[in-house]
Amino acid sequence: MIDHAELKSAFEELGLANNPVIAHASLKKLGLVHGGAETVLHTMLDSFGAVVMPTHTYQTMVTPKVGPPNNGIKYDKETDTNKVTAEPFHPHMPADKMMGILPEVLRSHPSTMRTSHPILSFAGVRADAALDTQTLYDPLAPIGALAEQDGWVLLIGVDHTVNTSIHYAEKLAGRKQFIRWALAGDRVVECPNFPGDSSGFQAIEEHVKADTRRVEIGKAYIQAVPLKRLFDEVVISIKKNPLALLCERMDCERCNAVRETNNI
Ligand SMILES: [Zn+2]
Repeated sequence: MIDHAELKSAFEELGLANNPVIAHASLKKLGLVHGGAETVLHTMLDSFGAVVMPTHTYQTMVTPKVGPPNNGIKYDKETDTNKVTAEPFHPHMPADKMMGILPEVLRSHPSTMRTSHPILSFAGVRADAALDTQTLYDPLAPIGALAEQDGWVLLIGVDHTVNTSIHYAEKLAGRKQFIRWALAGDRVVECPNFPGDSSGFQAIEEHVKADTRRVEIGKAYIQAVPLKRLFDEVVISIKKNPLALLCERMDCERCNAVRETNNI
């Protein structure tokens, strides 16, 4: 079983005591931790300059019967079933279960600030200025702000397929973004600049390898990549090949929409 001291020394080895991090984690991959997710979070708060995580809430999303073309989505002309199950966003809405347990533990922490984007909210401690940059129009702005503060992305037992920061760089490279909709109060809110699919993101690994710090703990690896270097490599990859980092699934609506935009 991993304990606080072991975690602390692994995090310290990354040398990011004064840097903000945006973190993604699979605690299942890490193995048993004494004190569970709370220990992991407290150790992170002790080890890094600031800690941010996505606390996205996909449970707020609704799909209209009609909408803009080439938007990486199937409009449901027949029924409106998701409206029945979707829940309006509120500031205390738990992060989607898909995000794992750690973002929800961070969101519930007393020192945490959580942004109010109805789908793509972020939570963080000591990161208020970066989090404040988020708008409905620029949902991933906090990631850019973290990069300006020499921020790093931290992958704990997970790979780049969950690395939200790659989405920020896709937009920098001019890649197509999407429109989605969410319930907030009694309104349906249009959410522009919604990112694409991330299942092809692992292809970036070889390009950032030289700049990646890596430590082993329990059954998992923790990797840290400087955001600015990550952005540079993603932009270079997409400029070189407009299809870079897309997934291989034939039925992937968002990757296919990117292909269509590039006439491929
Ligand atoms: Zn895809």
